[in-house]
Amino acid sequence: MAIATINPATGDTVKTFTELTESEVRDRIGIAHERWRSYRRTPFAERAALLHATADLLEKEADDVARMMTTEMGKTLASARAEALKCAKGMRYYAEHAEEFLADEPLPDPSVVGASRALGRYQPLGVVLAVMPWNFPLWQVMRFAAPALMAGNVGLLKHASNVPQCALYLEDVFRRGGFPEGCFQTLLVSSKQVEPILRDPRVTAATLTGSEPAGRSVAAICGDEVKHTVLELGGSDPYVVMPSADVDSAVKTAVTARVQNNGQSCIAAKRFIVHTDVYDEFAGKFVEAMRALTVGDPTDDATDVGPLATEQGRTDVEELVADAVSGGAKVLCGGERPDRAGWFYPPTVISEITRDMRMYTEEVFGPVASLFRVADLEEALEVANATSFGLGSNAWSQDPDEIERFISDLEAGQVFINGMTVSYPELPFGGVKRSGYGRELSSHGIREFCNLKTVWVG
Ligand code: NDP
Repeated sequence: MAIATINPATGDTVKTFTELTESEVRDRIGIAHERWRSYRRTPFAERAALLHATADLLEKEADDVARMMTTEMGKTLASARAEALKCAKGMRYYAEHAEEFLADEPLPDPSVVGASRALGRYQPLGVVLAVMPWNFPLWQVMRFAAPALMAGNVGLLKHASNVPQCALYLEDVFRRGGFPEGCFQTLLVSSKQVEPILRDPRVTAATLTGSEPAGRSVAAICGDEVKHTVLELGGSDPYVVMPSADVDSAVKTAVTARVQNNGQSCIAAKRFIVHTDVYDEFAGKFVEAMRALTVGDPTDDATDVGPLATEQGRTDVEELVADAVSGGAKVLCGGERPDRAGWFYPPTVISEITRDMRMYTEEVFGPVASLFRVADLEEALEVANATSFGLGSNAWSQDPDEIERFISDLEAGQVFINGMTVSYPELPFGGVKRSGYGRELSSHGIREFCNLKTVWVG
């Protein structure tokens, strides 16, 4: 894919960018590695001041950067602005808590290991490559960058090829926030250049958020090089509604959970699994609410759902819908692209989905909801877990026993009861199964890119 800004609302190419050469990439790695030697010794307070200063800039520039995000990948301006502010919040969270999260862990009685002092110490790993997607062009990066920089690592960013301006803005804002040259660099490269970067001995670890094939490729190379990876891949999150649920609240949240970010979120609820006793009520209200959403110009405040980010992304969604329809699935609303420029796709609800349809197991990265009717809790869990993904999960119920079953038996990295899956700086974020491994955010996220060094003093 060429590195370019192409406005998804119009299909127009706004700006193209030249890829770095291999030798330019090697030079940037050299700068990062050299910087790390000194940066790793800076005190937490110094790093925190830089991160706060960067967060200040981001807050001040939120309107402009939101416009850039919307132009590059089509999310609504309101959600882009909220994303910029969320990044600033996440940065401040790590600025304030990193030292506590990475404090030494002394053994209370070191004599049991024959030492006068014994402890675990968190130390930075070095130069970390982040391969990031376009769907949350700032937040996906920041939830890596803020903890990594606070831990004393330095970062290289290979962002998705369709968000180069966001990628360059990130490098720029860290520099203006006062981070020394080389602490955070954007590499404008295609995915083909990722392998030599990963194999460079000066690069110590990698984190990737994106599709399963991209994750598999990065993990395979890092496995070969014995380098640590964190993978945050796709999801096809279940959203279970039981008879005791507050159906109106469940419907309202279901709409947001499905169409957030124009339907392109790894933690969007994608499969709505509803108990037969409340199925008709839920389905009727859900379809009505999805149909009532306004699809259109993402810069317009009245718009709920903007275009999909790429033409290919819309084609992928259309193929999954066509596959289901040809197998007998029913389109309850949406399902047809509007006749206009840009890569728009309407909020869509589909029922009568069977196991042989691709949509039963695959992720639909667009505003398309699958609706399933189930007889009881056991069937709800069976359908919910019938996917290779295991990122987020949602269940609605007022019954304490049912709630415990969902917490215990949903195969996912996260379970949200009577709400929707959201990433918070304060909570660990990550998946099981083919949604990836490792954790981002919270105290766990910052420790991913640290060497927990065992210290024994006789
Ligand atoms: P990709 O996984 O292709 O892109 C994500 C990032 O990985 C981009 O920076 C991309 O670079 C890079 N990349 C792609 N292939 C490789 C590779 N072989 N080696 C190294 N880096 C690579 O996602 P897409 O944008 O193509 O979206 C496809 C699907 O991925 C979606 O339909 C969705 O299912 C999933 N996805 C999940 C996301 C999530 O949040 N978990 C986010 C985005 C997508 P480049 O842009 O240059 O190709």
